[in-house]
Amino acid sequence: MTESRKPQTLAAQALGWVDEKTKAVVGPIHTSTTYIRDPDNQYRSGRIYARADNPTFDQAEATLAALEGGHAAMVFASGMAAATVAFQALAPGDHVVVPNVMYWSLRNWLTGFARDWGLQVDTVDTSNLDAIVAAMRPNTRLVWIETPANPLWTISDIAGVCAIAHARGAAVAVDSTVATPVLTQPLALGADLVMHSATKYLNGHADVIAGALVTREDTPLWQRIRTLRAQLGSVIGPFEAWLLTRGMRTLFPRVEVACRNAQRIAEHFADHAKVSGVLYPGLPAFPGHAIAKRQMRGGFGGMLSIRVRAGESAAIDTAARVNVWKRATSLGGVESLLEHRASVEGAGTPAPPDLLRLSVGIEDAGDLIGDLEQALR
Ligand code: PLP
Repeated sequence: MTESRKPQTLAAQALGWVDEKTKAVVGPIHTSTTYIRDPDNQYRSGRIYARADNPTFDQAEATLAALEGGHAAMVFASGMAAATVAFQALAPGDHVVVPNVMYWSLRNWLTGFARDWGLQVDTVDTSNLDAIVAAMRPNTRLVWIETPANPLWTISDIAGVCAIAHARGAAVAVDSTVATPVLTQPLALGADLVMHSATKYLNGHADVIAGALVTREDTPLWQRIRTLRAQLGSVIGPFEAWLLTRGMRTLFPRVEVACRNAQRIAEHFADHAKVSGVLYPGLPAFPGHAIAKRQMRGGFGGMLSIRVRAGESAAIDTAARVNVWKRATSLGGVESLLEHRASVEGAGTPAPPDLLRLSVGIEDAGDLIGDLEQALR
């Protein structure tokens, strides 16, 4: 029944769930950590202990799985918990290909902990399909991409990467945090797993740390991830899961306004005297624009970066002068954030020192442009 409905409808109604008993249109928050065992020693409810799962997760997971067109979703304590578990579900000695432009904290974990643990990790430019072909080995199990990728918004060709990986027996996972299911559906393009920092657009209100994975099919890898979530205890709390469901109800209008605002801001500053470059997939001159146009629909996302012509200290000074924009890390909330990215990422960052990363919210675009104009002056 819900299959014929548009994703906007599914999201707004969080799949149209209604409580059978009370007729409530908003789901309850289940705080119980444990469940009654049947007198004959069975657990027919399917629930045993809340470190494995919690009924409050169900609606968030079902809604996200529907929006991504996946078989199932799992929510986690954070985006990092979701991402790292996908790698830990592999075995020491396995080889993975990951981007050289990606969420910095995950890159640090991959080149630090994951390598120490025995994973063979190759970082490559995943926007270059030839580089991926060259990096593949007989023991490559997973190709991880992020598109658009932090903080340069590099675009990777999801279908192209999947063709290469699948031909060599490797799975593909896509960090689609920035694209959201509103703009891109990686599973329909062939990906096996989609990852979200649900802290960002899915929740959308800067008040929940959460992560999610979505799978195209029920696979042994997916079952191992489920077991690991319970064993590592990387579960989200019930209140956070409930807030996440609430946030996803407004995902479409939030992302649509953020995309419109970001496109306007990118175009405004593209030829600005104080700006030496605007990095945004929605600009025709951006290197990944043609692929972004093919695999994103309805907009190019709410994230962009600008390079301040006068250099690093001018960029930091610009960030110090904003009023409407908030000087903070993170992204995907209703309020616009701006930060000097190299200061956040430190050594090894691909962010040039003059780069400011902008997470565009749903405020009036004119207010955002005006504030940035005065800060750049
Ligand atoms: N992936 C991307 C693209 C992110 O921007 C972030 C956080 O900034 C993460 C993953 C990690 O998510 P979390 O902060 O929820 O652990």
